[in-house]
Amino acid sequence: MHEWALAEAVIKTALEVMKKEGGKKVVEINIVIGKLQTIDMDAFNFALGELIEGTPAESAKINFEYENPVFKCINCGYEWSIESLDKLLGEDEIEAIHFVPELSHIFIKCPNCNSPDFDVIKGRGVYIKSIKIQE
Ligand SMILES: [Zn+2]
Repeated sequence: MHEWALAEAVIKTALEVMKKEGGKKVVEINIVIGKLQTIDMDAFNFALGELIEGTPAESAKINFEYENPVFKCINCGYEWSIESLDKLLGEDEIEAIHFVPELSHIFIKCPNCNSPDFDVIKGRGVYIKSIKIQE
């Protein structure tokens, strides 16, 4: 049930920011979801809806944005992004990566030096890009 944990973290952060800024209500939450993040959007949306009930974020509009993955080669320092994995990989490979992100090292290599050693610097996880509050 990691959608619940993610939703909880998002709402908690949004409410903390609101308090810090001295707001009374959260009116909008903009969430970025990395394309490498495995997430069941229905479950995530449902969890968000349940969790904001009765909080100052209750009537907030929640927007989602999807972030392309960015990789950085450990060997040569080259950074590259891929717009969508499906241009590069087959369906089965994408599914494998979603379940086991470490597998991406088998399928993806540095376009500059061909090394399979890279860090994923973007495109994983879920975070809040911005929120709008009402004072
Ligand atoms: Zn490289």
